[in-house]
Amino acid sequence: MKLTKGKEQRFTGHPVSPGIGIGPVHEATEPALTITAHALDEPDIAPELDRLDDALARSRHQLQKLKNRLAQLPEDSQAEIAPLMDVYLHMLGPSRLIRGVKSRIETGRHCAEAAMQAESEAQAEAILALPGPDRAGKQRRADEVRELARRVLRNLTRQPFRSFTSLPQGAVLAAESLRPADAALIQPAQIAGVITAEGGIEGHTSVMLRALGLPAVLGAEGVLEAADPGALVILDGDSGEIILNPSRASLDAARARLAEQAKAKRALSRLSRLPAETRDGTHVELQANLELPFELPLIARSGAHGIGLLRSEFMFMNRAEAPDEDTQTRIYRDIIDAMDGDPVTIRVLDWGSDKEVEALSPYLPETPEPNPALGLRGIRLLLRHPPLLETQLTAILRAAAHGPVRIMLPMVSVAAEITETREILKKLWRRLKRRGGVALPEALPPLGVMVETPAAALAAPVLARHADFFAIGTNDLTMYTLAADRGMPLSAQLYDPLEPAVLRLIHMTATFARAAGIPVSLCGELASRPQVSALLLGLGVRQFSMHGNAIPRVKQAIRATTLPSCVALAERALGAESAAQVRALLEGE
Ligand code: PEP
Ligand code: MG
Repeated sequence: MKLTKGKEQRFTGHPVSPGIGIGPVHEATEPALTITAHALDEPDIAPELDRLDDALARSRHQLQKLKNRLAQLPEDSQAEIAPLMDVYLHMLGPSRLIRGVKSRIETGRHCAEAAMQAESEAQAEAILALPGPDRAGKQRRADEVRELARRVLRNLTRQPFRSFTSLPQGAVLAAESLRPADAALIQPAQIAGVITAEGGIEGHTSVMLRALGLPAVLGAEGVLEAADPGALVILDGDSGEIILNPSRASLDAARARLAEQAKAKRALSRLSRLPAETRDGTHVELQANLELPFELPLIARSGAHGIGLLRSEFMFMNRAEAPDEDTQTRIYRDIIDAMDGDPVTIRVLDWGSDKEVEALSPYLPETPEPNPALGLRGIRLLLRHPPLLETQLTAILRAAAHGPVRIMLPMVSVAAEITETREILKKLWRRLKRRGGVALPEALPPLGVMVETPAAALAAPVLARHADFFAIGTNDLTMYTLAADRGMPLSAQLYDPLEPAVLRLIHMTATFARAAGIPVSLCGELASRPQVSALLLGLGVRQFSMHGNAIPRVKQAIRATTLPSCVALAERALGAESAAQVRALLEGE
């Protein structure tokens, strides 16, 4: 590799995908999209609707082709992008977006381009203005609408898309911005990394680049202007640093780190065949969280022993109505079959508060609650809508004939929520038996609860009399314990699962579960942090469920420790005065 002339310059952006990339800059610019709007006369309306339909059909065809191409990409990136393709394909159907565009053409007499631009922008703005704390989620949904509109607009105006086919081998791809569908067109083996001027950590593009294993720094301002074509660049996807025209010393240092990372990666991939146990032989169960069925191949490769949390919300997303019993049964059965005898923990629909499900909005209280996070959510909401809960439980019971299943309730705070649900479950079981001709498991599946409110943790001995297992949800448990909403910048500083108050609740729950003889797992984000694994073992948790990607590193951390050292660490952490002190303890390990 030749050093290009020019002074070394450093830039910083968001480190979105780890790893070092070294290579010559290759800028992939997007041709500008020009649109000329005009008003329609009455006789032009029908042909204009045909023109729109034609552009929608072309867009659908392109997305379908892109989806087919995904089969050639690594499985984790398929898992990220394939559902997104489905979201786009759904939006191209008789969605709210397309209905709005057609109405602007028919009644507003806008040409198709102007109608698409105005309607998509109005819908994106409306999404961003929705109440609720999930700002990143809203931004992502608004971006999806805008992205799809851009595709249709290019097809309406027959203006070309950006091409990624002629990237020089080993180049660093540089662009003003990159969309997820663009990322799907990149062959990861062809390039060394990605830098962009726009974009951040959240969003599908970042997740996609991580899944592709491509080192990437997004949102690095100034670097595109400063880089001559072919200039050598180093990007550090862990720190977000970009070095343009690196000195010999910078280049040598980066190459050494690249070699180290390759070695670590090889070691990690060997881990999937080794057991998850501490050096002194304590066995730990590692399971996967499943949010979308496309993640199944990744889970199969991760070395997970079953699914510890199936977030069933995905079945209710992007559709006009809730799926019926047969549809749900089919979806669960496919997942159970894919897990091939490993257990699948299905959490019934957790919706309400910031978890919005469009198809279910008619079920929400008419007057918005002032504090939705403290209002109707999860099992509280389901118990108020028996048909929804009963359809889901019936489908789970039917699917459970195909393999080991556990049923889990979200947002439980009192024992009555478990006993009421169990009565319903028994009633449905009897009803299915009467119905006849339906294959059923030999016994009722275990019924367990998420421990994600302080009340559930504090009442764990009582809940354990009625629940067959616990799963600690540290995402919500942290929020409710510290009364701090992670979505809001001011309280986000307080939101820290390492606060001793939260650790105490985890410890209590694990201790009570052990005393009651029921299994307890931890399935919040905390489970996926290898730096925290020893502490969680010390607090008494022996079963974790996390994103499949995280399993190898967590397994590595578990295999590096011993139980007495975990217990000693947990004792010190429980005595700490702050999350900062706990973090210092972890760093000292
Ligand atoms: C949790 O709250 O920790 C959890 C796993 O559930 P979710 O993130 O789906 O709310
Ligand atoms: Mg939760």
